[in-house]
Amino acid sequence: MLVDVHSHLDDRQFDKDISEVIERAKKENVVAIINNGLNSSSNRRTLELSKRFPIVKPALGIYPTDGLKLSDEEIDAEIAFIRKQKIIAVGEVGLDYHWDASQKERQKEIFRKMIALASDLDKPIIVHSRKAEEDAFEIIKETKIKKAVFHCYNGPFKIVDEMVRKGYYFSIPTNIVFSSHFQELVGRIPLSHILTETDAPYLGPRKGERNEPANIACSIKKIAEIKKMTEPDVMNNIFMNYQRVF
Ligand SMILES: [Zn+2]
Repeated sequence: MLVDVHSHLDDRQFDKDISEVIERAKKENVVAIINNGLNSSSNRRTLELSKRFPIVKPALGIYPTDGLKLSDEEIDAEIAFIRKQKIIAVGEVGLDYHWDASQKERQKEIFRKMIALASDLDKPIIVHSRKAEEDAFEIIKETKIKKAVFHCYNGPFKIVDEMVRKGYYFSIPTNIVFSSHFQELVGRIPLSHILTETDAPYLGPRKGERNEPANIACSIKKIAEIKKMTEPDVMNNIFMNYQRVF
């Protein structure tokens, strides 16, 4: 049983063949796809997908750079909307200094609000932390939130051990097939803190190709190789992690 804890199937690239994408995932033994909303319209599309396809579990959030376009009133309205929905996690939320490092304090303020929402709802957070990993970790540490999943972690290895000790998880994208960074990351963190994701339509196992949840099997193979375990063992462990977090 495979899981994809971070995808964007509401992306327009899936408009034409979403049913086939879901069918291929099921055929490959994927049992859960967490779709991460980015903003007001993406959150609503995520909810629609989850109603149409029960395998799709909705995580709703405000993506850091999307949050910068919103007023306080708009953010509070979206939070009020999310509060009323049945969701599996709050995400995608976090900090992004790659695309915008000019408004760090505003990003942090919005991130803290999203963490408070997850705490209130007693749900995990799915964290984007591009070029802002240490700040994201600091903010999460100072809150009481217990469950955090760092999606596509590209930060320094020096804080990874402490993140594991704090009980946080890492979701590893399908580009682990060729990315030495993710291969090294998987080598460093215990399997008990690893989850799998596609970030579809991005970060696929084959460069230049649209990614989709059916590709999760490629990651299991690679993780098994690195951990010197069998593929079924890796798959079962990651599924148990999934159940523990979500
Ligand atoms: Zn994402």
